[in-house]
Amino acid sequence: MVDFPSPYSVDIALSVRSHERIGGRRTDATWLAERWADQATRVLVLAGGRFPLGEDGTSVKWLSPDAAPEGERLLLGECDGVVHFAVLSRGYRAPDDWGTLRTVGPLLSATDAGLVVQAQALAEWHRAHRFCPRCGGGLTVHGGGYVLRCSSCGREHFPRTDPAVIMLVTDGDRALLGRQASWPPGRYSTLAGFVDPGESLEQAVAREVAEEVGVEIGEVSYFGNQPWPFPSSLMVGFFAHAVTTEIDVDGDELEAARWFTRDELRTEAEAGTLLLPGGISISRSLVEAWYDGPLPGSW
Ligand SMILES: [Zn+2]
Repeated sequence: MVDFPSPYSVDIALSVRSHERIGGRRTDATWLAERWADQATRVLVLAGGRFPLGEDGTSVKWLSPDAAPEGERLLLGECDGVVHFAVLSRGYRAPDDWGTLRTVGPLLSATDAGLVVQAQALAEWHRAHRFCPRCGGGLTVHGGGYVLRCSSCGREHFPRTDPAVIMLVTDGDRALLGRQASWPPGRYSTLAGFVDPGESLEQAVAREVAEEVGVEIGEVSYFGNQPWPFPSSLMVGFFAHAVTTEIDVDGDELEAARWFTRDELRTEAEAGTLLLPGGISISRSLVEAWYDGPLPGSW
């Protein structure tokens, strides 16, 4: 048995339970209309992935339904007895001082972050599904924003989530991090990749590591997961034990990869010559769980 950090031994952003999704209400048109008529209901405006911020710049500026613009209404859920919707404002160019989940995500409360993640994932799904994938017919929105029904063949389409694995590979004393050619100098991160059709998560971990760096994987241990709505991923985090250590970078997805001892992680991060992923990324949580403490600096 290899000694891996315990699941969720470090907090993972965007993974905190933040509100009730009240999925049973999505098809209740009367209830949805009543809640929209209640000015205590809160509305998130989302335009091109941007949303308005409160004056402190660290919270969502929630509007009353009367103050919200026209657009597709999505039921997000309920929090402390208050119902929350999002409105997708298509074609509206958001002001530059509006935030995105990537930029202000780390500053938001868990409740705001959870509601924005849900809205962002739904918005990406609506944006990418304009026509029926089966027959090309037009789609109409139902079920509080969670069903797209084809007006031609009648088929219903539902939001999709694409699983991806993200893994910290370790040989016990060292962690393997890689970098893409397009990244600024010094930036490194954990390896990651999408799960193939018909593949288990553990198989995906071993295959991705073999493809990207040519390292063979033995034991794999679950760490935690994180929704990543850019556009529709679920990042499933693992620790993976390397049974070979020679690196053969594919040169396609990765430009370089190297082994870091814990001392090297700390001293190079302190010196600023190593830039680790930060913000809302689960990659940071994997690295700090393995390092067993916080590390300085980030992208
Ligand atoms: Zn159709």
